Amino acid sequence: MYVYGPVPSRRLGRSLGVSPIPPKTCSYNCIYCQLGRTDKLQVKREVFYPKEDILSDIENVVKVVNSANLDYITFVGDGEPTLCKDLGWLIGQCKEKWQIPVAVITNGSLLFMEDVRQDLKNSDVVLPSLDAGNEMVYRKVNRPHGSIGFEEMLQGQVDFRKKYSGEIWLEVMLVKDVNDSDKSLMEMNDAIEQIKPDRIYISVPIRPPAKPGVRPPEPGRIIRAHEIFGTTLDLTDYEDGEFGFDNYPDARTAIIEICSRHPLREEQAKDIEMRFSESGNIDSMLSDGSLVRVEYQNISYLLPSNFIKKIQ
Ligand code: SF4
Repeated sequence: MYVYGPVPSRRLGRSLGVSPIPPKTCSYNCIYCQLGRTDKLQVKREVFYPKEDILSDIENVVKVVNSANLDYITFVGDGEPTLCKDLGWLIGQCKEKWQIPVAVITNGSLLFMEDVRQDLKNSDVVLPSLDAGNEMVYRKVNRPHGSIGFEEMLQGQVDFRKKYSGEIWLEVMLVKDVNDSDKSLMEMNDAIEQIKPDRIYISVPIRPPAKPGVRPPEPGRIIRAHEIFGTTLDLTDYEDGEFGFDNYPDARTAIIEICSRHPLREEQAKDIEMRFSESGNIDSMLSDGSLVRVEYQNISYLLPSNFIKKIQ
């Protein structure tokens, strides 16, 4: 399946996620990635799956969950969705078929390509990332494909802003002792001023990261980032709201599908079981090895076991 959710999103409300790329195919290998290490680090755009199959999957789910119950159709990917060569076509089809706003969550690294900027032009909101203000920090936190440089990535975001008529909501992920010093924050602020996003969200790693040792900054550093960036919104807490389950036949499928894209706190997985009036699934998935329990920041998460192999 290419579609999952709807999931509660802190920025997008009830968001139907669409992943048009194979798992963990990305132009970055971020140290904080909640999906584990990047399997395929690439910048070449590809047709990974037949675009008609992706569209028909979206159509089927929208029919079941009802478009009135959705705030956004969100192209997000278990990696970088702009690597999908059919993204522009898919966005255009969604806009033609439904009155549901379309969002794209991207790392922003490929916006230097004219065809990527063209593909995104009909979306309503683009949510790019910016986690560094210079080449050294960029390599440390995002670990990009060797062919992408910091200045090129930044220029891509600046050029996109000049032509794009939708909203740009920039997300900055702060990592303790990696990009949370005053110097790093000020350099990032210089870059943000060039991009001129409509909103700036500050975020911290709240789920188990790809690289052990990655931690959220101290609260004082988050406050400092808000001061330096000016008008910002906070994403440092957990999302609330309910997941949509109409699209799943049983609790086991729902838990596996959702946590493959969106690692679940154990309490959220238990809530899913209750919604299906089922019990024992989580214990049985932990015993048969489909799921693994991981503690991060004193919170228990359930991850698909293949994620663990990808955590470095
Ligand atoms: S956080 Fe996003 S951009 Fe970074 S490696 Fe993971 S999927 Fe790619």
